[in-house]
Amino acid sequence: MTSTNLHNPLPSGSDISLPWHLRLPRPLEKDFRLYFRASVIKIAPLALVMLAILLVLAVCVEYLIDPAVIAVSWRPRLLTLMLIVGTLILMRKPAWHVWLHPASLLLAFGIAFTGDYLGMAIEHPLSYTFFLQTPVAILLICIVLRVPFYAALSSSLIMIGALGVCTHISQHEPFAAMTLLLLTLALGSMSLFGQYVYERLLRQHFLSEHVLYQHRNELHSANIVLESQATIDGLTGCINRRGMESRLNHLYHQLNSKTPDAPRRISLLLFDIDFFKQYNDTYGHPAGDECLKRVSSVPLSMVQNETDFVARYGGEEFVIVLTNSSFNDALVFAERMRNRIEQLGLPHSGSRVSQVVTISVGVSCSDGPAENGAELLKMADEALYQAKGAGRNRVAQMSHEGQVLML
Ligand code: GH3
Ligand code: MG
Ligand code: MG
Repeated sequence: MTSTNLHNPLPSGSDISLPWHLRLPRPLEKDFRLYFRASVIKIAPLALVMLAILLVLAVCVEYLIDPAVIAVSWRPRLLTLMLIVGTLILMRKPAWHVWLHPASLLLAFGIAFTGDYLGMAIEHPLSYTFFLQTPVAILLICIVLRVPFYAALSSSLIMIGALGVCTHISQHEPFAAMTLLLLTLALGSMSLFGQYVYERLLRQHFLSEHVLYQHRNELHSANIVLESQATIDGLTGCINRRGMESRLNHLYHQLNSKTPDAPRRISLLLFDIDFFKQYNDTYGHPAGDECLKRVSSVPLSMVQNETDFVARYGGEEFVIVLTNSSFNDALVFAERMRNRIEQLGLPHSGSRVSQVVTISVGVSCSDGPAENGAELLKMADEALYQAKGAGRNRVAQMSHEGQVLML
């Protein structure tokens, strides 16, 4: 991310400007093709059905003008109708949509060339009107079927070239032929210009959506980082008090509303380091911080369930929340944790219960009377208080009946 992006998260003008030739960088160009095609799929079937109806009507008009014309025109008309039906079939399956633009071009060539053929093959005072199918085909690929600009441009040039050759070799008056060619050139260039402007706008729209999407993603990732920073304790890497309260409330809410992914029960362990004030006084605050890291690493390494977590509740007080373990398992966990912390053997000459750092633990469980996270925490705190009173370096539980029992 550049410094400009950091200070100005909204897209700048240069982000969404396009070169005159409209090309986007390769991966974007590929995505744009899909986006462009999707914009055609919605309207094309209706347009094709209308075209088929027009062709049938044209046959009827030809019949009224001169039934002899039908003898020559029905084959090219049938071919064009088949091309229309083929293009319609392509629209039915998304996997075939990749062929939509080539099929549209084929259809346009079909209409233009059969028109040229009929203009030359039919001897009738009105036969020059068949050549008008070429501008119709150009309008079709530019406006209705929206073939990409460069494909439309090259196809239109081929059609106009073919029209020039056909009118030149046909027996029509040079004036009529020239008028037809000029009319086709005028209509063709107008619709190609319209196609260029439309595609330019569509590309700009696509690009601005893309830039906004990117910025939204960046904001989303930044939010995730900020959110984790707001709920993680910087010293120990445990969840902080705010994070703990929100997780615990969420778990309790699930438990009470009995949602499918609700935990069966929640056990809460609250522990506090014994005589930590003296530890700081003896070894200094930085050593105290190091001690907090070492002590908290023990429960962090013991927690395995995805919904279980360790949080730093206060200065040197930690909470461990266990979901789905039985109350007995939670007590075993607490005793094992107390023992492992003692086994770390962190010297603590200021402690009056041991030569090393020890903890006292209070354990409570949602099977008891606690109706929410705060009450569960209060019960564990009451048990911890009693563990301290009973001499520290021990685990106390708040029983389901509301009595504190020492382990
Ligand atoms: P007790 O056995 O009754 O718990 O005695 P205690 O001395 O541990 O008493 P208490 O739990 O009230 O002591 C909390 C001490 O923890 C006070 C403060 O100096 C220390 N403390 C709190 N947060 C930090 C911290 O982030 N770093 C360090 N080094 N010390 C802290
Ligand atoms: Mg304390
Ligand atoms: Mg303490």
